[in-house]
Amino acid sequence: MADLGIPRNTIEVLQKHRFTTRKKYGQNFLIDTNVLDKIIRAADITEEDCVLEIGPGIGTMTQYLAEQAGKVTAVEIDGDLIPILEETLAAYENVTVIHQDILKMDVKKYAEAWGGGRPVKVVANLPYYITTPIIMGLFESHVPLKSITVMVQKEVANRMQAGPGTKDYGALSLAVQYYAKPEIVANVPPNCFLPRPAVGSAVVRLTGYAAPPVQTVDEKKMFALIRAAFNQRRKTLANSLGNASGLEVKKERVEQALERMGLAAAIRGEALTLAQYAELSNLLSEQQG
Ligand code: SAM
Repeated sequence: MADLGIPRNTIEVLQKHRFTTRKKYGQNFLIDTNVLDKIIRAADITEEDCVLEIGPGIGTMTQYLAEQAGKVTAVEIDGDLIPILEETLAAYENVTVIHQDILKMDVKKYAEAWGGGRPVKVVANLPYYITTPIIMGLFESHVPLKSITVMVQKEVANRMQAGPGTKDYGALSLAVQYYAKPEIVANVPPNCFLPRPAVGSAVVRLTGYAAPPVQTVDEKKMFALIRAAFNQRRKTLANSLGNASGLEVKKERVEQALERMGLAAAIRGEALTLAQYAELSNLLSEQQG
């Protein structure tokens, strides 16, 4: 089968099937063999690996994955792409295509079955409109994962990697860094896609931790605190948490906890590390108990 990473081959497949890309599904197909090679190398795919690809499109990256991996399962929402995938992936016996919305799938159950108990690698050029729900869904549902190597909007990749005190630091940085070590492995300009997206892109690799890097009594509570802290970014942390509906934490209690941690009462949420959020959440649980 022709290498779909070469632009003219992608154009030929699209024309043959009279397929026009759909914005609502975030369809920007990769047409750059160097970028495809980089993604496969960054994900370190070997014959031992079971790979989950989210959104195979016309099967471009799927072909590259199938050449290296033991097994590839590709989940595609757009029914019009299924007959195209049957054709472009016909040569690969190690590929299974599932016609499904990834957000509606019990990925944990499937991943356990595909991987035979071994953690899977997720590799994708993600549909940008649902990047956060896809990634957080994989982490929060405790899918057995080795790594996630994905193309995302450059700005989102920066947020995943950001540390305290920077403009990109926020709830997404903390959530991702609780589950995995993020690394930007490539910056990718719009001309590597058909059609070209309006924004710059980056490939980010998230290497899953065997155990979280911080200890929390109540993980859900810590994330509720984090969300509330960044909802009102410009306020002090004590004010943001004290005002947040649903948290039921008094401003004074937050200030006491901050004092016990050796932090200023007027500190802002963007200054705290993940370890400090874990400690704050533990102290507030203690006080509430
Ligand atoms: N992997 C292909 C490539 O790199 O050329 C296509 C990537 S394109 C950015 C995103 C793909 O995700 C599209 O094929 C789109 O139809 C698919 N997609 C969008 N929403 C989805 C969902 N909820 N579940 C599964 N696939 C989805």
